[in-house]
Amino acid sequence: MAVDPASLIIDLPDYPVPGVVFKDITPVLADAEALAAVVDGIAGRFAGRGVTKVIGAEARGFIVGAPVAVALGAGFVPARKPGKLPRDTYAATYELEYGSDALEIHRDALTPDDVVLIVDDLVATGGTVRALVKLVEDTGAQLAGMGFFLELAFLNPRAAIAEVTDAEVFSLH
Ligand code: 5GP
Repeated sequence: MAVDPASLIIDLPDYPVPGVVFKDITPVLADAEALAAVVDGIAGRFAGRGVTKVIGAEARGFIVGAPVAVALGAGFVPARKPGKLPRDTYAATYELEYGSDALEIHRDALTPDDVVLIVDDLVATGGTVRALVKLVEDTGAQLAGMGFFLELAFLNPRAAIAEVTDAEVFSLH
């Protein structure tokens, strides 16, 4: 029987700060079947929707987002921490489950003709996604939805996301 990717996640209490239970997904990435199940699960949900670009935030959003882009026949747009991208950028600040940060994309990475899917390994508070939604909107591109491997439902990310977009939110677990 195929491996359930969620069964490979390792919970780490009090990491990186006291009170947070960190979900270590690296064993999922390391398992060929589990990684394929995650990529196929997200890509399968959004297949046939005309997605032209997948956007993912560093660093785990790159790992899951790029193969989803390939599976959908789309390109990949990296959203990076400030100062990493060499040309003109749009920027958005966001709150993390622990701390705050900012993300940037190149201004010409998306156009109004693009249909965009946001992909990440995990959605917690929804802060990262809200920043990505703002970046997509800055370019005038259309948001098709967002797909995640894991959703920490107890942090209610869907309510935070619904404040900024009515695009589809899909998570595998
Ligand atoms: P949010 O912005 O929704 O609060 O947090 C989601 C972002 O933080 C994602 O980019 C995700 O990679 C990272 N993140 C937050 N908590 C965890 C966690 O417990 N495990 C993993 N793998 N990533 C996390």
